[in-house]
Amino acid sequence: MKIAVIGTGYVGLVTGVTLAEIGHQVTCIDVDKEKVETLNKGISPIYEEGLTELIQKNLDGGNLAFTSSYQQGLQGKDIVYLAVGTPQGEDGSADLTYIHKACDSIAETLQNDVIIVTKSTVPVGTNSYIKKRIEDKLAAGIKVEIVSNPEFLRQGSAVYDTFNGDRIVIGSDSPEALRAIAEVNAPFNLPIVQTDLKSAEMIKYASNAFLATKISFINEIANLSERVGANVDLVADGMGMDKRIGRAFLNAGAGFGGSCFPKDTNALISIGKEVDYTMPLLESVINVNNKQRGIIAEKVIEQYPDLSGKQVAVLGLAFKPNTDDMRDAPSIHITERLLEKGATLRAYDPVAMDNAKKVLSNKIEYVKDIESAIADADLAIILTEWDVIKEFPLSAYKKYMKKAVLFDGRNCFTIDQVAGTDVEYHSIGRPVEN
Ligand code: NAD
Repeated sequence: MKIAVIGTGYVGLVTGVTLAEIGHQVTCIDVDKEKVETLNKGISPIYEEGLTELIQKNLDGGNLAFTSSYQQGLQGKDIVYLAVGTPQGEDGSADLTYIHKACDSIAETLQNDVIIVTKSTVPVGTNSYIKKRIEDKLAAGIKVEIVSNPEFLRQGSAVYDTFNGDRIVIGSDSPEALRAIAEVNAPFNLPIVQTDLKSAEMIKYASNAFLATKISFINEIANLSERVGANVDLVADGMGMDKRIGRAFLNAGAGFGGSCFPKDTNALISIGKEVDYTMPLLESVINVNNKQRGIIAEKVIEQYPDLSGKQVAVLGLAFKPNTDDMRDAPSIHITERLLEKGATLRAYDPVAMDNAKKVLSNKIEYVKDIESAIADADLAIILTEWDVIKEFPLSAYKKYMKKAVLFDGRNCFTIDQVAGTDVEYHSIGRPVEN
């Protein structure tokens, strides 16, 4: 199939590149000319394992191209994927500005019938609106069909997830369009769930809201465990063995961040408001998370009410491991809070430091490795569970730091690993060790 993908962010770029990899002829369109230039050189503007290799391979193979021109990108295409951002608006609802702009550009440019496939996460009813908005401005005689194909990839393992996901969801009110998009996806060899348009849109929001609920739930249990002397790791393991519950997403920590969970949970509440339906469970999920994101900083401040003159090592800045994404990362609020209390911060992240510099205070010093970050520090604080941080020997904290005091916002080490190491270890939902 000849496919255009609009938007080359985390979702659009991975979609375009993997569709090319399974044999389609793909042109990716982005309004960001600098990004397009970088991509045409075979360089990925984002950090995702395996992505650069696939970009280069498919550029060389001639089945992948990048352009900032809609005219060039849409010419002769059968299918147009929409993968532009849908950030959170001021009132919590999804801001559809980029979707509207992309629709108008499609309508102005399109010369032939196409199926529009929406990968962007959009409120229930938006796909019908997208179809209408494009149709209203299209030249006479051209037809569009619409399919909702929400994305479930995880940043950090996006390429792997595209080839190994649990399911592909496609929803449409047109059986022909559904059949065509099922065929496009067939080489991925994954289960395909086919629904109507609105149910597909809802599956995406409901899935993210459910995962966010699991995280807030275990964090609430963690906070209680800490107060009554239980260990949340053991609690989660014991709960997770029950197949009705499952162990995934029961890791206590500094709460959820990133570009999806906070905004999609808020957007679902907004969808409810529009039809006069309040969602107290999801409101609590967000409230619990907002508090949780600051808990590790509050633990530090409880022990050191005045941090002036204290050298603090911050280990991990990205909102989760294996990504350079800093959108809504807990490190934003936590570093701000520690600076407010007078701390001097030295930070290390394996890949997110360039992006971090754009959003964090310029008072933070960035260093090239963990050793440099903890050298002569009074305390260290872990905010992202990168492997390199989890595998860093606990004995080294003692070796490099003024005093080995570790506040672990991601429970990277078990209490057994820490026992007897001389590291004063504070974590989430578990007793203080040493
Ligand atoms: P992103 O911000 O990384 O990328 C969006 C891209 O679209 C940017 O490169 C931007 O320049 C481009 N763009 C904006 N307006 C455009 C236009 N009119 N024409 C062409 N290009 C345009 O966003 P993302 O993280 O890839 O998310 C995209 C969508 O996918 C969102 O709706 C998001 O909720 C959803 N989603 C994201 C993830 C994730 O992990 N990031 C997972 C599932 C779903």
